[in-house]
Amino acid sequence: MKVVKFGGSSVANAEQISKIIDVVVADAARRIVVVSAPGKRSGDDTKVTDLLIALANKVLAGEVYEEALMQVVGRYGEIQKDLDLPETVVATIEADLRGRIENRGSNDLQFMDTMKASGEDNNAKVIAEAFIKKGHPAKYMNPGEAGMLLSDEFGNAEVLPESFEKLAALKGESKIIIFPGFFGSTKGGEVATFPRGGSDITGAILAAAVKADVYENFTDVDSVCAMDPRVIDNPPAIDCMTYREMRELAYAGFGVFHDEAIIPAVHAEIPICIKNTNNPTAPGTMVVPKREPEHGSVVGISSADGFSAIYIDKYMMNREVGFGRRLLQILEEEGLSFEHTPSGIDNMSVILRSDQFDEKEAAVIERIKTELEPDNVAIEHGLALVMVVGEGMHYTPGMAAKATEAFRDSGVNLEMINQGASEISMMFAVKDSDRMIAIRSLGAAFFN
Ligand code: ASP
Repeated sequence: MKVVKFGGSSVANAEQISKIIDVVVADAARRIVVVSAPGKRSGDDTKVTDLLIALANKVLAGEVYEEALMQVVGRYGEIQKDLDLPETVVATIEADLRGRIENRGSNDLQFMDTMKASGEDNNAKVIAEAFIKKGHPAKYMNPGEAGMLLSDEFGNAEVLPESFEKLAALKGESKIIIFPGFFGSTKGGEVATFPRGGSDITGAILAAAVKADVYENFTDVDSVCAMDPRVIDNPPAIDCMTYREMRELAYAGFGVFHDEAIIPAVHAEIPICIKNTNNPTAPGTMVVPKREPEHGSVVGISSADGFSAIYIDKYMMNREVGFGRRLLQILEEEGLSFEHTPSGIDNMSVILRSDQFDEKEAAVIERIKTELEPDNVAIEHGLALVMVVGEGMHYTPGMAAKATEAFRDSGVNLEMINQGASEISMMFAVKDSDRMIAIRSLGAAFFN
């Protein structure tokens, strides 16, 4: 059994919806179909979710909202016409939206979620009609009724643990289930949404709940690339990677899905396949719990800028019990998370994202000085991290040499190197200004 999820661009208009119907019915294992709201039809288009947010904001501000409402209805009207569905479909959507506005309660955040959720909810109803019209038995499923129970953190809700058992019952359904992504119901019966892009989360939860053989995530690229295609031309495609490799590659350039979104599927060890709605027979990229590492192979290279490093020196640091804990405790108490902590016998460094660190920098340094009594503390801003990732690196001599030779040949000065204990990645910190040349030189070294 497969759970399949189609993102906004895959369900943006009638043409795309017809494609997804063909994709689903081409494989009898595709039993649960999670759909987004209609996304962009072209580069300068607006997603229905964004139209709904604009509409909700007008309602909340007490402004005239008729035009904003008809813009949303218009998007579904076009789909209904092009799919040759009855006009009542659009009338029902209009009535639904007006009902959501009229029944608005006192909680503005909850109202916003109700409006946002209508994007996927109405699209799922339309898509279920389209399946039926083409002669395929399908059924719209209401997330709340199916057991998708969420916390009441509106706009940022999390799934409640009991949902999985309830949703497991979907396995027994004989028709193709069309399940709207992005939202569920609180225990009090109110609509709540996941963070933006949350249909991926819905798909991962359903895949885990029904113990799917695969969670297929359809988008508009053939596969995940080994490097950011905005940075190098024609990077190689990744056929298969592990969850761990995917996490290590999470820095910029791998924006096909948000890695946090798929946590439920990862915990349940469900393989994930990223596929292209516009080219569904392409094999896509598999993300799996484990695989036989290929000797010496690098699966991908990612990078991001905007990091700062704290360097701390203290003579005999290695003998001071609790030094590391106390340093990290300061960061914890200041509400800071960190990315890496390369360390030596008498020094420790911490790399953090600059945007969260900037306003707390002075307080953190002061606390380090007074509480840890170091010999020296220094801060460096404007760092970029470059990650070279591959499970196979563990067994292969010369991988780090290859990377550092590439840096040497292109004149990039390394600020820091860190190889995680798992040896599936090497992290290089370089100056922001060297980032592009650093990753291009690595690309040439590992993928040419
Ligand atoms: N429609 C929602 C958004 O644009 C959720 C999704 O597409 O995954 O964020």
